[in-house]
Amino acid sequence: MDFLSKDMAMDLGTANTLIYVKGKGVVLDEPSMVAVERESGEVIAIGREAKNLAGRRSRGTTVTRPMRDGVIYDFETASFMIRWFLGKVFRRFPLSRPKLVMAVPVGITSVEKRAVMEAADMAGAGKVFLIEEPMAAAIGAGLPIDQPSGQMVVDIGGGTTEVAIISQFVVSCSESLRVAGDEANEAICQYIRQQHGIAISDIMAEVIKMKIGSAVPLKKSLEIKLRGKDLVSGMPKIVTVTDTDIRLAMKEPTRAIVEAVRRVLEKASPDLASDIAENGIWLAGGGSLLKGLRALIHQAVGLEVVKSEDPLRAVIRGAGSVTEHFEYYRDVFLN
Ligand code: ADP
Ligand code: MG
Repeated sequence: MDFLSKDMAMDLGTANTLIYVKGKGVVLDEPSMVAVERESGEVIAIGREAKNLAGRRSRGTTVTRPMRDGVIYDFETASFMIRWFLGKVFRRFPLSRPKLVMAVPVGITSVEKRAVMEAADMAGAGKVFLIEEPMAAAIGAGLPIDQPSGQMVVDIGGGTTEVAIISQFVVSCSESLRVAGDEANEAICQYIRQQHGIAISDIMAEVIKMKIGSAVPLKKSLEIKLRGKDLVSGMPKIVTVTDTDIRLAMKEPTRAIVEAVRRVLEKASPDLASDIAENGIWLAGGGSLLKGLRALIHQAVGLEVVKSEDPLRAVIRGAGSVTEHFEYYRDVFLN
């Protein structure tokens, strides 16, 4: 009856949800999106399928994201989504009320904590254990968080950027900033509207960001052609935007992320600060894939900056590790 006692981990992110089953690895990785039929209010697609619908802008459906700024924003839809994802996993791995390790933002309020725990409970999870996202990211990056020497992690997701210094299983200094990838997308939409007079979707803005976005000037300039509708004349229009445009557009959000890193370093005790000077700064989360972000942070604080391997999965790898070595990590949980 071993299969009944398997534990699980979940990274319920603003942009992506990932699930890990003990002994199996990552078994689900999908956008945190739900497509609803406008007329009836009926859910018609979840996860990747919902994201595809959003891209096609199909009439009559609205694609919503139940998570915002790292926490549940729309409880009903979020619960539905969690139930759906867990249900998908339970069909492959028949688990009965498994222990669930869930990654949550640093500084989550007790109301927000209760919301995720309740949603997980309704979805069929057993006892829920919460772990802070940067802690999970640090474990996922393989950092020696059991040691007294401080380790600094910056997890840049869709909704939040979490900056933390960790030592001996504890987050000793941190900041959660409600600026991350989504904010960059919005800034790009606004810039294109103001500078070029066309409206683009968030999903288009994200594609532009991934293709030509960068935090520092590039060796070789990049550009992209956009087709849109002139907001004034209503006529079709094609505009070309360059990496310089996009860098300018994203200036505010990238600056805010760098400033958060600087503030946490300033708050740190002299001992921890000197540990970080030696160990460097580790980046995780999808936002860390922005070209040149590592260089920008390095320029700003003068320390070595390292991107963790497969940063989109750092948090789930760490939360997964916790399920594999539960006793060893028992001190990392929030109560
Ligand atoms: P969350 O934990 O909030 O769900 P993720 O860690 O999954 O977030 O990261 C999602 C964010 O990463 C999105 O805002 C997305 O636009 C951004 N992202 C993913 N790939 C890239 C890339 N190549 N360049 C810039 N941003 C990226
Ligand atoms: Mg995340």
